Amino acid sequence: MEMSQSMAPSPMNVTKSAFLAGLECTRQGWLNLRAREDDRDSGLKFHLEQGIAVGKEARKRFPGGKLLGRQSRSTRGALAAELTSARPGDVFFEAEFVSDHCIARPDILCRDKDGWHLIEVKSATSFKSEYVDDVAYTLIVVTDSGLPISKVSLMVLNPEFELPGLEQDRFIQENITEQARKRADTMRQQRPGLVPKLLADVPMVEQLIYACKSCDYFGDSCFKNTMQSPIFNLPGINERQFKQILTSGHTEISTVPGSLLTSPKQQVTKKAILRNSPQIEKAALKQLLDEVRWPAHYLDFETCALAMPSVERVRPYEQLPVQYSLHVYSSPHRLERHEEFLAQPNEDNRDALCQRLLSQVGRTGSIVVYSSFEKTILTKLAERMPHHRAELDSLIERLFDLRRVFAEAVIHPACLGRESIKYTGPAFTNLTYDDLEIKNGFQAIAEFFRSGNPSLSSQEVARIRQSLLAYCKRDTEVMAELHFAVLECLP
Ligand code: SF4
Repeated sequence: MEMSQSMAPSPMNVTKSAFLAGLECTRQGWLNLRAREDDRDSGLKFHLEQGIAVGKEARKRFPGGKLLGRQSRSTRGALAAELTSARPGDVFFEAEFVSDHCIARPDILCRDKDGWHLIEVKSATSFKSEYVDDVAYTLIVVTDSGLPISKVSLMVLNPEFELPGLEQDRFIQENITEQARKRADTMRQQRPGLVPKLLADVPMVEQLIYACKSCDYFGDSCFKNTMQSPIFNLPGINERQFKQILTSGHTEISTVPGSLLTSPKQQVTKKAILRNSPQIEKAALKQLLDEVRWPAHYLDFETCALAMPSVERVRPYEQLPVQYSLHVYSSPHRLERHEEFLAQPNEDNRDALCQRLLSQVGRTGSIVVYSSFEKTILTKLAERMPHHRAELDSLIERLFDLRRVFAEAVIHPACLGRESIKYTGPAFTNLTYDDLEIKNGFQAIAEFFRSGNPSLSSQEVARIRQSLLAYCKRDTEVMAELHFAVLECLP
């Protein structure tokens, strides 16, 4: 094995995430490679920290394994020698390889009698096809560095694992050698064309593609202030329709010919944009809003879904409700009361949350929510706590999903056919999250767990908890104001 021969010196090497992003959009890969860690918000950092914790836990399955990590040019020779002299049973974690300006750190390498078993650990609960791409990249870099790989596996979290977990392991493994090799063959052909573009001094020019729809760089590093109503925002659009419209020369919803719009909702969205005014289907709106019974209880849960929950009877990524806000209005604009609940981090507060909610939500009137999320949470709570089941089931029967109004009867030009409260809230109300310390759900989860850090002062913990309460309260305030706004659209 001559690992050092393929380790070309370079001021910058392509990372796995940049390479994989670059396969979809070269510009995205280029930007990804230069993204600074400081740009990550606390929600993303929390997600990454969970991934690191899962990796550490996985390593415990290989006692005696050696953690290697980052290498300098001078230590790579020693690493190569160490791997060359390894014996069956030897295990290395995060050994760093570089080949043809691509860098990879396989999570686990186990020496077996035929070569090396490469294992990548994912903080997920199922084997997704995108992970094959992930592993295939690592396989290319490691193989091209001279290490013979005999087997490739993915290790993911056991979706059924619950603490105390006496008879289960947290992880399950799947042999994906064939799929990874096949994908690596294709990627190897793509690499010579892609890598120089990712390492170039300037990125490729932005180009509207379907992936822009879910790309974080859209509107920021790409197409800044140049697009008003991009076609990927048409409700219900798929990649095929997107390409069809793009090929016909249209990038803005406002100019797409009616013949290319495939649903009444797409037609109405275009009309709303052209007229710059909300389009309201009054009969449908009235029918929907007539379902609401007063007093209306506006309910929003905050949950956390952890890769490795620390409390018993919670599965990986099971949504654990930790907070709620409840605004009760006897009639539009007539606030009766506001209630709230906030759990302690690292404790199972589900029973206390249920008891409090059941005592505050009364027996009559609708429970207004936004999306099917609260129904999912209440259903899961009923499953986990049979002693509250009957009462929780009765809450589910009182739910009214306000999102349906924006899916079926009201389209605002500013929402571009999107129904998320992130869009409908600012379009119909004056309420925003700008004045709050916590501005989104990811940040809320991260802060919730940070508040359990024993090194924080009691004042800091109190400040975080106040911010969490303010954030969740704003959610139900927005929901109530949205409801009142659409009620005013009726004659
Ligand atoms: S917004 Fe579009 S062009 Fe820009 S990086 Fe993302 S996918 Fe590529």
